[in-house]
Amino acid sequence: MIGVAVLGSTGSIGKSTLDVLARHPDRFRAVALTANSDVDGLAGQCRAARPDYAVMADPDAAAALRARLATLGLPTQVFEGPDGLCAVCELPEVRYVMAAIVGAAGLLPALAAARAGKRVLLANKEALVMAGPLFIAAVKAGGAEVLPIDSEHNAVFQCLPARFGADLDGVGVRRILLTASGGPFRTTPLEALGSVTPAQACAHPNWSMGRKISVDSATMMNKGLEVIEAHWLFGAPADRIDVVLHPQSVVHSLVEYADGSVLAQLGNPDMRTPIAHALGWPDRLESGVASLNLAEVGRLDFEAPDHDRFPCLGLAYAALRRGGAAPAVLNAANEVAVQAFLDGRLGFMGIPRVIAEVMRRTEAAAVADLQALLAVDAAARSLAGQVIGEAR
Ligand code: NAD
Ligand code: MG
Repeated sequence: MIGVAVLGSTGSIGKSTLDVLARHPDRFRAVALTANSDVDGLAGQCRAARPDYAVMADPDAAAALRARLATLGLPTQVFEGPDGLCAVCELPEVRYVMAAIVGAAGLLPALAAARAGKRVLLANKEALVMAGPLFIAAVKAGGAEVLPIDSEHNAVFQCLPARFGADLDGVGVRRILLTASGGPFRTTPLEALGSVTPAQACAHPNWSMGRKISVDSATMMNKGLEVIEAHWLFGAPADRIDVVLHPQSVVHSLVEYADGSVLAQLGNPDMRTPIAHALGWPDRLESGVASLNLAEVGRLDFEAPDHDRFPCLGLAYAALRRGGAAPAVLNAANEVAVQAFLDGRLGFMGIPRVIAEVMRRTEAAAVADLQALLAVDAAARSLAGQVIGEAR
C-alpha cells in the first residue's frame, strides 16, 4: 500500500488526484490532505478518504476543522501552518507527495518532500520557477524522484527515453516543443483585451482549472512559467524549448530528436491522465479518462504564438536567459499582478506591464540560499504592489 499526501487537495488538481486514488483503493491510501482555509471542502474530503492527517495553512480554519471533525467522530489529526504542511511531507508512511498548492506557498512543502526523498508529483510549477536550483539540489540530496504533473511536461517525460537523465544530447534530443491552447483570448481583437473581465479570463476553452492558472493561461504567462519549468526538469537551455499554439489541447507536447523524428503524447484534456501516469509510473493505471475520439476532434491546428498579444511569454524567456533571481522576480510580480487583476484593481494588459516594470527595476543577482530567495520574492512582491499603486 502506497501512502500519499495530497497538498492542495481542495483545488482542481487535488480533487482530480483524489478521484484517481479512489479508483485504486488496493494500491494507494491518502495519508494526509491539506488546504488553505476551505473547512467545508476539507471536512468533506476527510469523511470520504479518511486520512490520518489534515492540514490547514490558516490557523483559524484549522481550529474550525478540528471542531468539525470531532463532531463527525473522525480520528483525523489536524496540523496547521507551513510547518504542518512540511511535517506531513516528511512522514515515513508517506511515499508519494502530490504538490498541488498554487503559487509560492507551495515551495517549502515541495522542498521538504524532495529532501525527505519522496516521489514528488509536481503540479506546483511556481515552486520550480522560483527556486529551480534549490529544488533540484534538494531532490539530489534527498534521493527523491520527480514526476511532472503539468500536462506538457508529463507529455515530454513520456516522449523521452526511460534512461533520460537531464542530458538532452546524451539521448539525441534536438528540442522540446511545448503546446499551448492560447487560452480564451487567442482571437479576441487586441484593442478589446484592455477591458476583459476576470470571469472571461477564467473561462478556459478546454481545461477547467483554478483561477490563478486560468488567468496565467489567458496571458500565456502559464506557458512562460512552463518554459522555465522545462528548463529545470529536462536540463534544456532556452533556445531548445519552443512553444507552438494548438487550440484543441489534444497534443500535450512533443520531443524532436536529432534524426528529425518528433514524438508526441496525445489525449483528452483531463488532468487525471498525467496524475494517473505519475502515480502509476512505470505502470499504467486506469484514470477514468474517456478514450480520445480523433474523428470527433476532426482536426489538429498549430500556429506560432503572437508576442504582441502575449507579452508575458517573452518576459518569461527573458527571465530564464537572465538567470539568477530573475525567474523568482518574474513569478512574484506575476502572482501579485494576477491577484490585483482578479480583485479588479488592475486591467488585463496591466499584468505584463507590471511584471516588465518590476523586472526592469530589479537587479537579479544570483541567490545563494533559501533565505536570500525568500527575500528576493518579498522585495519583488512589494515592488509590484508599489508599481500597481503608481498606475492608479
Ligand atoms: P486551485 O486554486 O484550484 O487549488 C489550489 C490549492 O492550494 C487549494 O487546495 C488551496 O486550498 C491550496 N492553497 C492555496 N493557497 C494556499 C496557501 N497559502 N497555503 C496552503 N495551501 C494553499 O489551483 P489548481 O488549478 O489546482 O493548481 C494547483 C497547482 O497546479 C498550480 O501551481 C497550478 O499552476 C498547477 N497546475 C494546475 C493545472 C490544472 O489543470 N488545474 C494544470 C497544470 C498545473
Ligand atoms: Mg500546463
